[in-house]
Amino acid sequence: MPSPRVLLSLDYEPWFALTRRYDSWRDPEQRRALDGGFTRQALDPILDLLGSARASIYLVGEIAEWYPEIPQQIAAAGHELGLHCQFHRPLVDENELALDLSASAVWRALYDVRGYRAPMVGISEAAYPLLKRAGFLYSSSIYAPSGSLHRRNDLWELPVSTLSLFQRPSQLTAPRHFSTKLLAAGEVPYGSSFMIGLMPNLVLKILEREIRAGFSPVIILHPYELVRPQHFLRRLGRDAASHPLLFPFTLNKSAFLKTLLKHFPVSPLIDYVQEFTFNTDH
Ligand SMILES: [Zn+2]
Repeated sequence: MPSPRVLLSLDYEPWFALTRRYDSWRDPEQRRALDGGFTRQALDPILDLLGSARASIYLVGEIAEWYPEIPQQIAAAGHELGLHCQFHRPLVDENELALDLSASAVWRALYDVRGYRAPMVGISEAAYPLLKRAGFLYSSSIYAPSGSLHRRNDLWELPVSTLSLFQRPSQLTAPRHFSTKLLAAGEVPYGSSFMIGLMPNLVLKILEREIRAGFSPVIILHPYELVRPQHFLRRLGRDAASHPLLFPFTLNKSAFLKTLLKHFPVSPLIDYVQEFTFNTDH
């Protein structure tokens, strides 16, 4: 097993991905205008926050079209550049996923993208062969207890972390998204920024415990949780009021990230997968 560390990931998406209200908007100019420069402005402060720590940054591909310098800067800073999707919407359906993968093919090839994080951490079993064919090495698109790296059609799945209050689940069949079913089975998805927003200190304690036990937990943050978009709640409008479950995602988590980087070793997910496969192959 590779040395224990926090596998730090950022799903780099426009602020409006949070509300789902704009999923059906297709005009790239309209979408870029709605983002209002946020994804461009947030990058430098986020790279500063990360400092010398390296993370996995799963990019929404349309951002690479709006600002080609964003993937360049992420890669130049030494981070892993992964794919979150080309246009943010649910991609559990494999036909939708296939379309989305072909839309991102050019920039993925340019940057040798090998890691995939499904939007809303929602994936189907049928997605794995598609991802393999599109050149991916691994996916991190289900919730499951730390230490569950496993093989799926010649592709690795490295889940976003949960803490299992009862027995570890014996079956890890996709989809395994954040749901009441997951919670009812006694799995606390502490790797979700929802949980980090609600209980940052508890999540830090869990991370410490997991690392002591030899695990490498996977956690997710979003750009709008580290750099607050101007007038964020006003921009979210009635969605913020009518969907109280969005609230934890709107909380600033830069203090959490600073504490995390001060006290824990971190690495991108791809380092872990490559170290793991090197150790098992040799
Ligand atoms: Zn997302």
